[in-house]
Amino acid sequence: MPGFPLEPGATIGILGGGQLGRMLTVAATELGFDIAVLTPRENAPDARVAAYAITAAYTDEAALRELADLCDVVTFEFENVPADALEFLAGLGCPIAPGPKALASTQDRVAEKTFLNALGIETVAFAQVDGPDDIGPALERLGAPALLKTRREGYDGKGQRWISTAAEGAAAFAELGGKPAILEARAEFVREVSIIAARGHGEQLAFYPVGENRHADGILKTTVAPAPEWERVQDRAEAIAAAILEDLDYVGVLGVELFELADGRLLVNEIAPRVHNTGHWTQDGAVCDQFEQHIRAVAGWPLGATQPLVAIEMENLLGQEVETWPDIAADPYARLHLYGKGEARPGRKMGHVNRLRPLPD
Ligand code: AMP
Repeated sequence: MPGFPLEPGATIGILGGGQLGRMLTVAATELGFDIAVLTPRENAPDARVAAYAITAAYTDEAALRELADLCDVVTFEFENVPADALEFLAGLGCPIAPGPKALASTQDRVAEKTFLNALGIETVAFAQVDGPDDIGPALERLGAPALLKTRREGYDGKGQRWISTAAEGAAAFAELGGKPAILEARAEFVREVSIIAARGHGEQLAFYPVGENRHADGILKTTVAPAPEWERVQDRAEAIAAAILEDLDYVGVLGVELFELADGRLLVNEIAPRVHNTGHWTQDGAVCDQFEQHIRAVAGWPLGATQPLVAIEMENLLGQEVETWPDIAADPYARLHLYGKGEARPGRKMGHVNRLRPLPD
C-alpha cells in the first residue's frame, strides 16, 4: 500500500453509483488517477466512466475485498452506504476518507442534530419519534406545523410530511412506513444558504463562498453563487463548517445546508459528508471545483484555491426538463452537465446547467 500523497496512476475507490461519483471520476481522471466504483446498480452513471466497475451489494464481502485490492484509498458519494461496509474495508487495512465517524454522524437525523448541538451549533428544535404516541407531546413542545421526517435514508424531500395535529402525525408516520422518525420545528428562514468546505491531510482547510439555494417540493432547484450579500454570513458559515470538520478529523469535501433567520442567526439544516449538489457551481465558477478538491483531499494532495472566477446560477434539470438541452447548448454562456441517466422520471436529477454571470463589484 503506497503512502500519501498518492501519485498519479494510483486507484481511488468510490462507493455509490450516481452523478456525484461520475463527476468525481471525471475530476480524478484529469489528475491521472484511476477510479474503481462499487455500486449495486447496473449501468450506473459513474460506472460508465470509471476504469473499474464492480456491480454488487455494498455488503458483498468478496466485492469489498476486490475493491480494497484495487484501491489505495476509498471514498463514497452517498452517505447511506452501510456502516458495516466501511468497517469491513477498514478491517482489510484500506484507508477510507472521510472516515466512518463522518458517516455515523450524518446517516441519522437525530444523531446528526445531537452531534451538532453538542458542538454548540444551532439547529431547529426537534423531538425523536419512535411511535405515533410520541407525536402529540412533541407537537405541543415544538409548535405546529412541524415537519415529520424519517430518521434515515430521506433525500430530496422524500420521507417528509408537514403535520399540524397528532392525528395527522399518526397518519403521516404510518405513510412514511412506521419507521423511526424525527419531528422538526418549522424554521422561519428568510433564505437557505450552504457552504462547501474541505479539509485535507495536515488539517488544511478550504471554504467556498456561500451559495443561496431555492428548493421546490424539497428538491434543490437553483443555487446562486456567490450568494447575494454572501459576506454577511460567510465568516459564521466557515466557523460552523470548521468546527464540524475538525471534530470529525475529516478528510474530503463537506456540504453544510443552513437556514438564515430574520434575526440573522444561522441554523444547520443538514450536513452531507461528500460533494454536494449546491457545490456544482464550482465546476465553472471557481479556481478548483469541489470534485477535484475532494480528490485532492483524499489523495493527500494540497487543496486547491476556492475563489470565484465568475458568478454562477446553477439550475438542476429535473425529469423531463433535460429535454431542453438543445436550448441550453445554444447558449454559449451556459455550461451543460448531463449525467447519462436513462429514464427521466419526475423529479429525478438528470443534469444541471451552470449559467455564467459577471461577478458583482
Ligand atoms: P432536507 O431533506 O432536510 O434537506 O429538507 C429539504 C428542504 O425542506 C429544505 O431544504 C427546506 O427547504 C425544507 N425544510 C426541511 N426542514 C425544514 C424545517 N425544519 N423547517 C422549514 N423547512 C424545512
